Amino acid sequence: MDAILNVEGLVKHFPIRKGLFQSVVGHVKAVDGVSLRIPKGKTMGLVGESGSGKTTTGRTLLHLIEPTAGKVTFDGQDVSAKLKEDPRWVRRSMQIIFQDPYGSLNPRRTVMDIVGEAPLYHRIVDRSSLADYVGQVLEMSGLKPSDAMRYPHEFSGGQRQRIGIARALAVRPRFLVCDEPVSALDVSIRSQILNLLKDLRDQLGLTYLFISHDMSVVRHISDHVAVMYLGKLVESAPKGAFFKEPLHPYSKALLSAIPLPDPDAKSERIILEGDVPSPVNPPSGCRFHPRCAYAMDRCRTDEPPLADVGGREVACWLHCR
Ligand code: SF4
Repeated sequence: MDAILNVEGLVKHFPIRKGLFQSVVGHVKAVDGVSLRIPKGKTMGLVGESGSGKTTTGRTLLHLIEPTAGKVTFDGQDVSAKLKEDPRWVRRSMQIIFQDPYGSLNPRRTVMDIVGEAPLYHRIVDRSSLADYVGQVLEMSGLKPSDAMRYPHEFSGGQRQRIGIARALAVRPRFLVCDEPVSALDVSIRSQILNLLKDLRDQLGLTYLFISHDMSVVRHISDHVAVMYLGKLVESAPKGAFFKEPLHPYSKALLSAIPLPDPDAKSERIILEGDVPSPVNPPSGCRFHPRCAYAMDRCRTDEPPLADVGGREVACWLHCR
């Protein structure tokens, strides 16, 4: 299936500045050559520990943060060029749902203002039909039209995330970056929000990049899984193949931490030693080698490419030559 979103060699290095003249003394290599393809109507789960570069990847591919290098194509359009020529097209087509339903909503503004601002700006509706339009979008997100006149503090965490979803949907996007949209919510309401996102994707034909550190959540919503470690993709595979048999040692460790659906299945918990190394001076060769139980001499010097291995991609010398 053709990809509606195509990311090639995305890089984001943040300069580290020091001293009176704010000289650049190094770079945080947050995203270091990430390539992704997401077919229309599908969800790619992007997983990894905190500090792996997932969130920066999501924001950089939307150009909310300027990429250092790389190319993002959406629906055949170069996003960087399109932003100069027709920024409204980009902002309407590609939206984001933030992790924090508390901090991402302005407490002084009503839901009407929060959800209605972008469709007015993008001239999707005029003022005379705004209330009806916002009411429809709220209903689509599981809220009531009468909620439009209330303020964010009057809602529960789950309802606030529904407001965040309504705000994103209000410009009729076709692609959404969902950045840990349920991780700040009570476990009891996570599945409601995940099911809402699934239903909206299917009804509206949306395409998602779903960022999460929670493998159970990713298993619930994704069609394809990509794993990031220290700014790089280390594995990318269809969901079924990935959860049946992850190939990269880091993927195996992530997966070993979640409960298995089959109580008879045997799995040994793999404990990763140490923390994720600094993205300022990442390890040479394979960036995972200081924490990898299978590391060989070659792993310390040569960086493994993300290679095709039987219909999936893996960056590990155990699986590529
Ligand atoms: Fe481990 Fe080497 Fe594979 Fe890296 S390339 S994951 S260090 S075996």
